Amino acid sequence: MVIELSTSFAMRCPTCGRLDVHRLNVFNLAGGEPLEYYCECGSHKATIERKGSKYINIRYYCIICDLEHNMILPHNIFWSKNHLNSLICLDTELNLGYFGPEKKIMAELDRQREELNSMANELGFDEFADPEIMLEILDYLHDVAAEGGLFCECGNHEISIELYTDKLELTCSICGSSQQLAASCKEDLYQLKGMDDVIIKLPKGKPKSSKNPEVKY
Ligand SMILES: [Zn+2]
Ligand SMILES: [Zn+2]
Ligand SMILES: [Zn+2]
Repeated sequence: MVIELSTSFAMRCPTCGRLDVHRLNVFNLAGGEPLEYYCECGSHKATIERKGSKYINIRYYCIICDLEHNMILPHNIFWSKNHLNSLICLDTELNLGYFGPEKKIMAELDRQREELNSMANELGFDEFADPEIMLEILDYLHDVAAEGGLFCECGNHEISIELYTDKLELTCSICGSSQQLAASCKEDLYQLKGMDDVIIKLPKGKPKSSKNPEVKY
């Protein structure tokens, strides 16, 4: 009996941001040796290995926590032909990649690309330093705002966002305080994702170079 078990996984390189889709099948894991995945730039992305006879262990680098997360899955989920599984940051639950049937991965990546493109078209811009980064940052700010995590130190949650080539400016609609967020490269995105909340400081505090504000409730 031949059982064809294969799966794919897609993950952005933690160093250069390159997105690759890797394919593997059950024979790649047969010997019990861990499979190591590297980006073309040489960065280590993930390790996949068998754990006993029923489980697969995935270790993957998390850019947000700056360490490796570990996930153990039963075979039937790892080799599932029907489900797209997410590799998430165990701390923030942000998505770091996918694994599952290649078709489903491709469909999901296409969907994300289209979403970004249509957002770009709606906003009518393409003069950004890095349009994709700008859009991801906007998308992320939108999520943060939806959870109530975008606000001004004065207590106001109504924040307007103005876009520039390589940055965004957040302005409080009540007190007028503003803060700039760099938005030109992937480090800017990661830095933003590393913040729990995005808070506009009142001007009497530190100068506007202060990033990563902390607020106590
Ligand atoms: Zn890389
Ligand atoms: Zn993490
Ligand atoms: Zn304010």
